[in-house]
Amino acid sequence: MLRELGAEVREVRTAADLDGLDGLVMPGGESTTMSLGIEREQLAEPLRDFVARGRPVLGTCAGLIMLDREHLGLMDTLAQRNAFGRQLHSFEADVELPNIGTFHAVFIRAPWIAEHGPAVEVLAEVDGHPVAARQGPMLVVSFHPELTGDNRLHEAFLEQIRRSRAAGAA
Ligand code: GLN
Repeated sequence: MLRELGAEVREVRTAADLDGLDGLVMPGGESTTMSLGIEREQLAEPLRDFVARGRPVLGTCAGLIMLDREHLGLMDTLAQRNAFGRQLHSFEADVELPNIGTFHAVFIRAPWIAEHGPAVEVLAEVDGHPVAARQGPMLVVSFHPELTGDNRLHEAFLEQIRRSRAAGAA
């Protein structure tokens, strides 16, 4: 989706892959598997450095889990995995996102944010539970914005990257 919007993208599997990146997507998938990969490649510190330099991060679903207190510890959040119930593995819902409006969201064994500190701004909720939030340069959503044809969230992320690059250059 980012490529369709004109961005040059690459997969990050090792710390060297982070070099020169302006932004990072922590994707959906399986947070246990991602934790093992991060451990194997000793990626935790390089990822923390990346965020400390103010580079924008978009975390989706398992990516939201990876950024929380119990994983990379980059956001003051505690994610609850598979929060919408085991039998309800996936569902779709319209959520209201600031600056974007109504967004049709696809949830797949999605987490929600069970706890968060004051630095975290909640952007959207489903059934009273946060499913989108921001803290500094990090934007997390518990759904999969790449699974619909709607690219507005990715466009907003690229816009954030452009602003962050302009601020860095200034
Ligand atoms: N349930 C997965 C986990 O706990 C996340 C699912 C997803 O990313 N779609 O890691």
